Amino acid sequence: MKKILVIANWKCNHVTLKEAKKLFNSIVRGIKKIKGVEVVICPPFVYLQSLNPKPYTLNPKIGAQNCFWEEKGPFTGEISPKMLKNLGCEYVIVGHSERERYFGETDEMTNKKIKAAISAGLKPILCIGETEKELGSKKYELGKVKKYLKKQLENNLKGIPNSLFQIPDSLIVAYEPVWAVGTGKPCGISEAREANLFIKGIIKNVPILYGGSVNSENAAGYIKEAKFDGLLIGGASLNPKEFVEIVKNCSY
Ligand code: PEP
Repeated sequence: MKKILVIANWKCNHVTLKEAKKLFNSIVRGIKKIKGVEVVICPPFVYLQSLNPKPYTLNPKIGAQNCFWEEKGPFTGEISPKMLKNLGCEYVIVGHSERERYFGETDEMTNKKIKAAISAGLKPILCIGETEKELGSKKYELGKVKKYLKKQLENNLKGIPNSLFQIPDSLIVAYEPVWAVGTGKPCGISEAREANLFIKGIIKNVPILYGGSVNSENAAGYIKEAKFDGLLIGGASLNPKEFVEIVKNCSY
């Protein structure tokens, strides 16, 4: 049976460790009996170690929301992939649209992060997706979306040999239409399905996730109808009941 991957991106939320632990523990309890879904929690950096002391848990696994591309050196404020790996992280999100919007990150920077993450033994979750501006109109124009996604994949994966993708889960791609992230306006299931098939046609053997205003009501559609291999959840991952329900609805 196909394994479904559900990633929780907590973003910059939970200002105390106590709150973060409460949410984490509720999720751990809630997903215990759910089969066939691998859950990955990506909390703020400062909580990674406390939420995942050795021996590392198998489900949920732990991931980071970002990383730098150098291993160490004079890069004030940065966190390297090796540091994350040494803390028991298995996954790292790269290229999230909020990194571009608030910190000016480019595809070139994301490309370096992907390479560094893979070298450190992490599984990068690359976020791609069009903004409303790239769509050109409020209507979903598949041709424009495809053209943009192709360009993003080429830029972000430059210099990474295709053979690497033969290794299971060496890379994960999340299709996150930027206009759907955190807006409460999810992408239609049939449009998302088209984008999914298009991405799968370009990079084979790579799990493709959907992200953008997923909730417990629409989650199953992206897995069972749009045929995604998993989901990337922002806002809804902060509500344990809702998040556990999403995980439940993804299992076959
Ligand atoms: C995200 O931040 O990647 C995301 C998908 O957010 P939301 O679920 O809130 O749209």
